[in-house]
Amino acid sequence: GELGPEQQGLIIAHYGTQLAIEPLNQPGNEFRCHLRANLPALVTGDFVVWRAGADNTGVVVAGLDRHNLLSRPDSRQQLKPVAANIDYIVIVIAPIPEPHANLIDRYLVAAEIEGIEPVLLFNKTDLLNDSNQEAFSQLLSTYQQLGYRVLQASTHRAHGLDNLQSLLDQHTSVFVGQSGVGKSSLVNALLPNVDTRVGALSKLSGKGTHTTTSAKLFHFPTGGKLIDSPGIREFALWPMSKMELAEGFRELKPLIGHCKFRDCQHEQEPGCAFLQAKADGLISATRFTSFEHIANSFTESN
Ligand code: GDP
Ligand code: ZN
Repeated sequence: GELGPEQQGLIIAHYGTQLAIEPLNQPGNEFRCHLRANLPALVTGDFVVWRAGADNTGVVVAGLDRHNLLSRPDSRQQLKPVAANIDYIVIVIAPIPEPHANLIDRYLVAAEIEGIEPVLLFNKTDLLNDSNQEAFSQLLSTYQQLGYRVLQASTHRAHGLDNLQSLLDQHTSVFVGQSGVGKSSLVNALLPNVDTRVGALSKLSGKGTHTTTSAKLFHFPTGGKLIDSPGIREFALWPMSKMELAEGFRELKPLIGHCKFRDCQHEQEPGCAFLQAKADGLISATRFTSFEHIANSFTESN
């Protein structure tokens, strides 16, 4: 059939081998597109060049440069690209379920290595009380001292959502965090009229409905975009070498290569720059313990 002129668009979902494209000059409209042969792998959040066909269909003819790519390990621990052009990985934690520094650090390492700015969102602040307040403040200050952006919110009390919204404005974000920390509640509060449920139905081309379980892009009514999927929400760190892991700890990264021994394992070697920094109080004990735990968890699973 006849195709329209080349134009730019944004991938907002995947449907099997087809893509849902939103024209840059008509946000909110969806076109179901085939891909021209020999295109590199494209993911939600990628910008493309495409041509419209009849009935809200089209053909993607090229992918445009991306500034980053969020990948996650699949069931065989192979890194698989899931979303592109992400500005923030919002790591959601809450008093309940109780956060483990170890888990927060896993998310931070992934963000650092993928080159995406992490934001720590302390959610469910309405659950803070005399018994957990102290531990929470401590956790918060550890990450603030490292230079990470930290926000607080409570969906139940509608607290902190304005700050979150203004941060997300003009940016593309993903939300990650363990089950139960309040991600769905947050997403529902920020996207009031959108059905973001897993496998939510999408009407396309007036030809019935199609489900997608891949990453989907949503527009916040206040501005900014969210890319969301069950897989992204349950994001986990993939196994890596101790050296690579150290690159994900911003206070350890500058010390890499400064140990006396090239193959230093930072355990008890003399002249270890990591252990020296720990002894000098330049690295928090909890962060270093977390580094060791994560590194050990990888060697144990091998
Ligand atoms: P998800 O698994 O991270 O998507 O978490 P959900 O959004 O499903 O929330 C898990 C539970 O926490 C639900 O019972 C919510 O009602 C509750 N919850 C969500 N946000 C808040 C909050 O701000 N305060 C409190 N107290 N509970 C919340
Ligand atoms: Zn060392």
